[in-house]
Amino acid sequence: MMKPFKDTILSFISNRLDTKRLICHTGTSLILPFYHTVSDEYLPHIHPLYRPKTIKEFENDLDFLLKHFQPVDMQTVFACCRERKSIQTPSFHLSFDDGLKEVYDIITPLLYSKGIPFSVFVNSDFVDNKTLFSRHREALESQDIDPETFLNEKSPYLSTAQLKEMQKMGVHIGAHSINHPRYDLIPEEEQVMQTLESCKFVKDTFTQGLTTFAFPFSDTGISNHFFDRIYSAIDLSFGISGIYFRHNNRHIGRIDMEKYGHNARECINKAILVKKIKDKWN
Ligand SMILES: [Zn+2]
Repeated sequence: MMKPFKDTILSFISNRLDTKRLICHTGTSLILPFYHTVSDEYLPHIHPLYRPKTIKEFENDLDFLLKHFQPVDMQTVFACCRERKSIQTPSFHLSFDDGLKEVYDIITPLLYSKGIPFSVFVNSDFVDNKTLFSRHREALESQDIDPETFLNEKSPYLSTAQLKEMQKMGVHIGAHSINHPRYDLIPEEEQVMQTLESCKFVKDTFTQGLTTFAFPFSDTGISNHFFDRIYSAIDLSFGISGIYFRHNNRHIGRIDMEKYGHNARECINKAILVKKIKDKWN
């Protein structure tokens, strides 16, 4: 975790850097910004945990991204990382975690109209509103909202039918574990089970070419042995803390657009800057 003071300095610098020059200077070719949801409404299961972007803020982020990067699909991410095909123009691939329903209601139509491909990483236990994510449950309980009533009445997660419709529009669907545990708190056997079972769910339900997995919470402290075990069944995995390419380019970092900064410029500049600093010290 970065110290608040260091973070303030980084934000200060990031907000003042020219992105075009920064991209050019650092040779940044592919970034993967990710969100959870976008909404103009108060979401009682989300807002106590973090503040999602409003539609206007999200549109501003998109304008910034499109100004500096070209949007690419998951197949291109795979080709770039695994087949080592070089990307000529700086590119971005967007993704959304936890399979929240606003991805269907708000994000899909918006991105589709702009021709921006994206991925959604779903938890097999939450799809079709079978059960609530423990953190969403805690957020609701902290406001004295009955979680079961909320789940039944509001259906906060995507359904299989909605996901299949999105898939037809070109959306890539990846796995995000069965029920979103903290991997650093569970044994490796369970980490592998959560990963492979959720990938199998996605593969069986949505039949698509690439099998992908995004770590729930964080990929910090995960053993090399775990990664060795999962790659026979999955093509790419994704982390959450910036720009990095690890495990023979199979494990790729993403930029948290809800926590890393106030706007896309700050988030992206900061992520590029941190990568540059880390590369220099390694
Ligand atoms: Zn998540």
